[in-house]
Amino acid sequence: MSLAIDILSGLGDKSPAAIVVTANGRRLLLDAGGALHPGDPTTWARGLAVDAVIISHDHIDHIGGVSELDPETPLYCTPLVASALPKGRAWQPLPERGTCWIEGIPVTTGQAGHSLGGVWIHLGVEGGIFYSGDACLESRLFPFDVPPSARIALLDASYGTYDQPQQACVDAISEHLNRPLVFPVPESGRALEMALWLASEADARGLSIAVDPSIRANLKTLLELPATLRRPGADEAIAALLAREDAATPSLRLISDRDDTAAQWPGYQLLHTGYLTPSRCAELAADKILWQRWNVHLRASHLVALADQVGACQVVPLFTSLAEPGLSAWRALLGPRLHALPTLHTALHPTFHLEAWSPA
Ligand SMILES: [Zn+2]
Repeated sequence: MSLAIDILSGLGDKSPAAIVVTANGRRLLLDAGGALHPGDPTTWARGLAVDAVIISHDHIDHIGGVSELDPETPLYCTPLVASALPKGRAWQPLPERGTCWIEGIPVTTGQAGHSLGGVWIHLGVEGGIFYSGDACLESRLFPFDVPPSARIALLDASYGTYDQPQQACVDAISEHLNRPLVFPVPESGRALEMALWLASEADARGLSIAVDPSIRANLKTLLELPATLRRPGADEAIAALLAREDAATPSLRLISDRDDTAAQWPGYQLLHTGYLTPSRCAELAADKILWQRWNVHLRASHLVALADQVGACQVVPLFTSLAEPGLSAWRALLGPRLHALPTLHTALHPTFHLEAWSPA
C-alpha cells in the first residue's frame, strides 16, 4: 500500500488550493479553489476524477472551483461553509471539531482560527497528513485547535517568511483612523474581529462607524454557535456591536469586499488589509489606496511552531512563492523537513496502519 499527495494548485505562489491525497486506494480532494483574480480560468480541475471532496473554508481560493467538479462527487464541509456552495450542490457535514470517516479514511477536523466555519483537516493515514487550509494562531475571535501528530504537514504560508505580530499590525492601522476610511474585507473572516476592534476604537476616539449587514449577520451567527467555537471573552462586545446602530455619515466603514475601487468611495480612503489583486497593487502604487496587513494567516514563526507541534518530517509551505530567495529562507526555517515539489509519494509507514484508528 502506498500514499501519494499531488498538489494540483497552491504550490509555488498564492494560487487556488487543490490537493489530491491518494490513500488506501481512494482519492480525496482537499479544497477546490477558484481563481483569485476575476476572469482567470480554473485549470486544475480539468478531467479530474476523485472519490470525495473536503472543503476547509468558504473563501474563493478554497471553494470557488467546486462548480468545475462532477456534481455527483460526494462533498464534505461544515454547515456554515455549505452556504457558500453553488446553489443546489449536495454536501455532507464535516464536524467543526471531531473525527468522521470518508471513503474509509479517518478525517479529523479542528478550528483553524481563520474564518467562520473554517477548519483544518487531518487524515489518519501514513502517520498522519495535516492540511491547515488557511490558518491563524492570532485571531481574537476564532479559536485554533491543536491538531494531532502528522508526519506530513501541508501548511498555509500565504505570508511567506513575514513574521510581524498582530499587535504591530493593529497599531499601524490605528495611525490611519483620524481620516474617513473604508475597509473592504472578506465578510466571513477578519471582518468579524475588525468590526469589534473598530467599534472599540471609535468609542475611544469619539468616531462614528457603520458595519455591513452581511458582517453583522455573520457576527450574529458566531454568537449563536456553541461558546467553544469562539475565543472566550468576546460575547459581550459582539452583542454590543449588534445592538449598535450604524451612523448615517460614518467616518469608518467596514464593508464586505465586492471588488470596490477607490473611485466608488469619494471622500473616503480605502484601506485594504489582505491580499491585493494586481489591479489593487497598481492602485496602491499610484497612492489611490492604503494597505496595512491584519494577520489572518500563519506568520513564519507560527508555521514553524505548528510543524514542530505536529512532529512533521516533511513540511510543504503552500500559497507562497518558492523562488529564490524564498526557497533558501524556507530551507533555513524548516531544514531538511522542507518539501517544495508538487508530488509526494511514500510507502506506507511500517508502524502505522489504518486499523490503528477508530472513529471518535
Ligand atoms: Zn481563507
